[in-house]
Amino acid sequence: MPSSAEVLAGKLRIDDLEPQGRRVLLRADLNLPVQDGVVTDMTRVTAMLPTLRTLLAAGAAVVVMSHRGRPNGETPEEFSMAPVAEAMRLVLGHEVILLEDCIGDKVETAVQALVPGDVALLENLRCHPGETANDAEFACRLASLADLYVDDAFGAVHRAHASIIGVPPLVEVAAAGHLLELEVQMLSRCLDEPAKPFVLVAGGAKVSDKLDALANLMPLVDRLIIGGAMANTVLTYQGIDMGNSRIEEDAIELAAVLLECAELNGVEILLPYDFVVAADLGDAASARVVRQIPATTMVFDIGPESIERFASAIADAQTVLWNGPMGVFEIDELAGGTQGIGSAIADVAGRGGISIVGGGDTAAAVSAAGLSSSMTHVSTGGGATLDLLSGSVLPGIVALTDR
Ligand code: ADP
Ligand code: MG
Repeated sequence: MPSSAEVLAGKLRIDDLEPQGRRVLLRADLNLPVQDGVVTDMTRVTAMLPTLRTLLAAGAAVVVMSHRGRPNGETPEEFSMAPVAEAMRLVLGHEVILLEDCIGDKVETAVQALVPGDVALLENLRCHPGETANDAEFACRLASLADLYVDDAFGAVHRAHASIIGVPPLVEVAAAGHLLELEVQMLSRCLDEPAKPFVLVAGGAKVSDKLDALANLMPLVDRLIIGGAMANTVLTYQGIDMGNSRIEEDAIELAAVLLECAELNGVEILLPYDFVVAADLGDAASARVVRQIPATTMVFDIGPESIERFASAIADAQTVLWNGPMGVFEIDELAGGTQGIGSAIADVAGRGGISIVGGGDTAAAVSAAGLSSSMTHVSTGGGATLDLLSGSVLPGIVALTDR
């Protein structure tokens, strides 16, 4: 089976388009975190700017579309794209016209009035059930808004939704945007003859979310470091008493599969030796380091000795892929493991190696630690990143126009 990168290489790219005087429908991933009506993280806006700027500089009128949250076919105000339009105005320094819906006569009229250099933003795609259902009529109405289509929504490219796979065959030409290309190119560095030693750092919530990607990477990896709640499940399988810790009970068998897969491929496995525990999350202020986990406590982070051993296993890496925080990094007292491993990984890029970070929460942790710009690449994807790493060909890439 071809890889996503191979399929993408056979598709049209934004630089192949001649968008001057044309209307371009740009699918972006603007599913941004919003608090009290204000966007709290601009990463995904900044990430799609090169594509937007390319289209504007070439003389296109751009109609941007995205989903936000899960409104499930309803139109409650809390899912409006208004905060996103405001964030785009700020970052782009350019007017962004927010349309009242994503399809319909009024939207079509407004879009027809756009002139080169205009940017319009459609309302939340998922306020119509046709988006997630990949409804043909919904896709057709979206496609009627433009001549050309550009997909720059890496974070949504694994979804077989109308705006991702339904629209491309209905427009003149559908091409990949800069961010989509960059993401596939960067993540493929972990799949296509990665520079060795290649260290995979896995953590976060669940083994079950990540097993496919981890298993696909095992033949390529030299060392596998496991932390976070994922390590709780793996250590439980190994017969270690994890006290009250969060365990994914129905994934203990999957932990066995992961370890076996690592062993079969001669991968060195590193698990935590010491732990930061507390009675519960509300009790983080009294968190302490232990080697043996008391029955009444929960593990919320890896301990200092584990940080040191993990960091030295990362120190000589030429490629590091990191997916999943080492602990509950959202709480200061429990963020030490994630920060320590984050700095060790950031040093890899400083020495000329490659550091790739994937996963929504891991990216947030890296950003909170001020390490984003020290990494070779921080992916904007969560599910899409894992799907690509698990070897799947992403449907949104398949849907683009062949060269
Ligand atoms: P990503 O989004 O980067 O793929 P995940 O969603 O898999 O990461 O996991 C992130 C979540 O896992 C965070 O909310 C973090 O608080 C939680 N987590 C990490 N370690 C632990 C732990 N030991 N106990 C409970 N939750 C944990
Ligand atoms: Mg997550």
